[in-house]
Amino acid sequence: MRIPFSDLRLLHEEMRDELQQVFDRVLDSSAFVLGAEVAAFEREYAVYVGTEHCVGVNSGTAALHLTLAALGVGPGDEAITVPHTFMATAEAISATGARPVFVDIDERTYTMDAGLLEAAITPRTRAIIPVHLYGQMADMAEILRIGERHGIAVIEDACQAHGAMRDGRRAGSMGRAGCFSFFPGKNLGALGEAGAITTDDAELARKLRMWREHGSPKKYVHEFAGYNMRMAGLQGGFLRAKLRHLEAWTEQRRTAATDYDRLLAEAGFEPPAQLPGCRHVYHLYVIRVREREALRRALQEAGVETGVHYPTPLHLQKAYEHLGHGRGNFPVSERCADEALSLPMYPGIAAEAVDRVVAVLLEQSERMQFCVAEQGGGTYAGD
Ligand SMILES: *Cc1c(COP(=O)(O)O)cnc(C)c1O
Repeated sequence: MRIPFSDLRLLHEEMRDELQQVFDRVLDSSAFVLGAEVAAFEREYAVYVGTEHCVGVNSGTAALHLTLAALGVGPGDEAITVPHTFMATAEAISATGARPVFVDIDERTYTMDAGLLEAAITPRTRAIIPVHLYGQMADMAEILRIGERHGIAVIEDACQAHGAMRDGRRAGSMGRAGCFSFFPGKNLGALGEAGAITTDDAELARKLRMWREHGSPKKYVHEFAGYNMRMAGLQGGFLRAKLRHLEAWTEQRRTAATDYDRLLAEAGFEPPAQLPGCRHVYHLYVIRVREREALRRALQEAGVETGVHYPTPLHLQKAYEHLGHGRGNFPVSERCADEALSLPMYPGIAAEAVDRVVAVLLEQSERMQFCVAEQGGGTYAGD
C-alpha cells in the first residue's frame, strides 16, 4: 500500500463535470482575464471569509506584495514576519524594497511568538505579517493589540489557512488585510496560479484593484506604475466551483487529523496542538521527530510519502545572507526546521491510510530507536 503525501486527482475526479462546465462557460465568454467569474468569486470568497471586499490576483505572493505596496511600504521601511514560513512571505517584503525583520515562533503553534514582537519594532516598521502556518491561526488578538498600539498595519499571511478560525473569526478577516494563495496544493486550490486579498477597507481594496492592473482605474488611464497581477478568468470559475466543496474537504482533513491525534498519542508521540478557540484546518499535519532524514527515507521505502515544511528557516537562506543573521538567532525556528515532518494529509484520505502511516512510523522509529523528539522541547509541559 503506497500512501501519497497529497492527492489532487482524487479531489478533482469527484467534480470533473463541474470543472468541465466552468471551462466551457469561460471558453464561450472569452473572459480569460478577470471578468464575470472572477468578480463572482471575489463576492463569494468575501462572504466566506467575512470581509467586505476581496480582490483576486494571480498568486499568494502577489497578494502579499500588492498589499504591502498599496499600504505604501517601500525602500527604507521594515516589515516584520517569521523565519519559519515559505519564502514568499519575506520575498514579498523584499519585492517592495523594504527589509524583512524576523521574530521567532512559538514552539507549540509554529506561528509568531507575540511575546517577542514588540522588541522587533523600530521607527521604520510599517507592517507586521503573522503567518497562519499549517492551518492554525497566529495569536491575532495580541498581535493586533501591539500593531494598534504602535500604529502599524497587520497583514495576515493566510495562504495555508482557508477557513481556519480563532475566537469565532475567520483567517483573513482580522488584520488590515488577509492574503490567500490558491496554488493547486492549498486547501482551496485553483488549477494553476491564483491568489486574493480580503479586507474591510474599501480604499485599500480600490487601490489593490489598480495595483494589480497597471495602476489603472480604467483602461489606458494610469495613476501610477503598478503591475500585471490579475486573476485569470478560468481560475475564478474553478475556484467558485471548488469553494462549494471547501467546508466538506476541511471537515475531512479535520477527521483525519483527529484519527492521527488519537493514534499518535497512543503511540507516545505528541500530536500537533490545536489551541482552545481555534479551528485548525490542517493544510499540513506536522509532527516533530529527531533524525528526520533517516526516518523519512525509511518511511519512503515503506511506501509512505512525507514532506518537510520547511527544512531551512529564511534567516539562514542565501537569499537573506545580507541581513547578517546566523545559526542561533532564531532558535525555535531552527529547531522546528530540523525536526518538522509533514505526514500524508488530504481530503478523502482513507482512515486505513492514516492507520497505516502511524503503524509504519512506529515500526520505523522503534527500529531506529532514537528518532522520537520530546515535543515542544518540554516548554509547554503541564500547560
Ligand atoms: C503558498 C504560500 C505563499 C505563496 O503563495 P503562492 O500562491 O505560491 O505565490 C505564501 N505564504 C505561505 C505561508 C504559503 O504557504
